[in-house]
Amino acid sequence: MNSVPGGQNGGEHLDWPVLLEAAEAAARATRGRGRVADYIPALATADPEAFGMAVATVDGELYGVGDWERPFSVQSVSKLFSLALAVAYGGDSLWRGVGREPSGNPFNSLVQLETEHGIPRNPFINAGALVVTDRLQTMTGDASGTVREFLRRESGNAGLDTDPVVAASEAEHGHRNAALAHFIASHGNLENPVETVLEHYYAHCALTTSCRDLVLAGSFLARYGVRADGTRLMSRSEAKRINAVLLTCGTYDAAGEFAFRVGLPGKSGVGGGILAILPGRAAVCAWGPRLDQAGNSVAAVTALDTLTTLSGCSVF
Ligand code: GLU
Repeated sequence: MNSVPGGQNGGEHLDWPVLLEAAEAAARATRGRGRVADYIPALATADPEAFGMAVATVDGELYGVGDWERPFSVQSVSKLFSLALAVAYGGDSLWRGVGREPSGNPFNSLVQLETEHGIPRNPFINAGALVVTDRLQTMTGDASGTVREFLRRESGNAGLDTDPVVAASEAEHGHRNAALAHFIASHGNLENPVETVLEHYYAHCALTTSCRDLVLAGSFLARYGVRADGTRLMSRSEAKRINAVLLTCGTYDAAGEFAFRVGLPGKSGVGGGILAILPGRAAVCAWGPRLDQAGNSVAAVTALDTLTTLSGCSVF
């Protein structure tokens, strides 16, 4: 068996348990660096030293280390799924209301939205995710329920659900998101009432998931749009586009740094999770609640960096 570490990419066998162990060791060495998000007060209770990582391969293998089955708040990682489902149900129409360029601004910034007339720069900043949630609501009548059911089905975790305490905390402290939504609505770029859009947005951000759940649910992107059961969620071209937006816009205002260090499409959340895709091979999720200045998990970025550096596998 030609196992990596040591390989320089391509089709050779990767020794995932060895890679995960090395990634965990590197992540644990970041102990004490970064800060747990507290702008949503319910998130501040996360264990700062927790760390987990999981891999789901396109062949159906599943590996994990550390706290890989421990639940955490999915937060913005849910935006990957709301986008994918909006694209799967609605196709290209979505892109009339939201762009696909990196924003170069904080994820909850209002400034750009004003100069760009209520069309958010990309689907992963909060403004863009609100538009995506709105369109998914129009298409399905239950945006957050659609995301939840998709995650449940793909992960096999029937108990996966919104944490009502986190959702309430988000709503209570959500003045900025409410401002963004009203501003977008003032430009005619919401199809549903602001309150409905915010409710569903908070509900999908407040879903509780584990690394295990997320790699299983995200593996359709590693399979170019095909779910684990062999059915197609979206076209190969749509999967490519989502991976492209993940690479350029998925890790806040540090997507360049993430591409530089990790070299994979990925989506981070302020709960400390990062779901990354190795197209054609695997979905990988790392989680640690301490965040860097940009809002990305210090431990998760380090773990993913270690994994792609040791294996030689990235999209580049
Ligand atoms: N629900 C969070 C918010 O709207 C998501 C933040 C994030 O993970 O980026 O602020």
